Amino acid sequence: MSHEGVSDAEVDAFYSKVKEDAEAYGYHLNSDVAFTKDLLKNILINNKRYGYGACPCRLASGEKEEDLDLICPCDYRDPDLNEYGACYCGLYVTKEILEGKKKLSSIPERRPGPEERIKMKSTPFNAILTPSLPVWRCKVCGYLCAREEPPESCPICKVGKERFERFM
Ligand code: SF4
Repeated sequence: MSHEGVSDAEVDAFYSKVKEDAEAYGYHLNSDVAFTKDLLKNILINNKRYGYGACPCRLASGEKEEDLDLICPCDYRDPDLNEYGACYCGLYVTKEILEGKKKLSSIPERRPGPEERIKMKSTPFNAILTPSLPVWRCKVCGYLCAREEPPESCPICKVGKERFERFM
């Protein structure tokens, strides 16, 4: 069967790839396979429509430059996983959610509005030199990342978040 030019076989192949990548990097897909495949199908539809896999739960502008932050996985996935246990769409969830130790709640939109995004783009270079987020360092392999909390596991050497230290 095909939905807006996307076949079930394409959705199944995409599901396998996204799941494999998620697991390789310490992330988890929602265990509701039908729901998850529906989100992935809409990412594939967006890819055919716009030429990039924009978030299935947000309205894309159709301009890739404008929507770079919305290409799945979006810039907001990790902060939402840390704070709510799931990304805005519910495609990615934490281990606590998967294991039923935490309940899913509704997730407010974290993406800044259009005016704020324009302001952020025109931020002077010297303002970028002072990080607005803490920088975390993996004590095992030296991987650095700027975010509110260290990742669940290091994407390079796969050690757990407890092996990260605050770097800046
Ligand atoms: S909210 Fe989830 S599904 Fe939507 S783009 Fe971000 S990571 Fe992908």
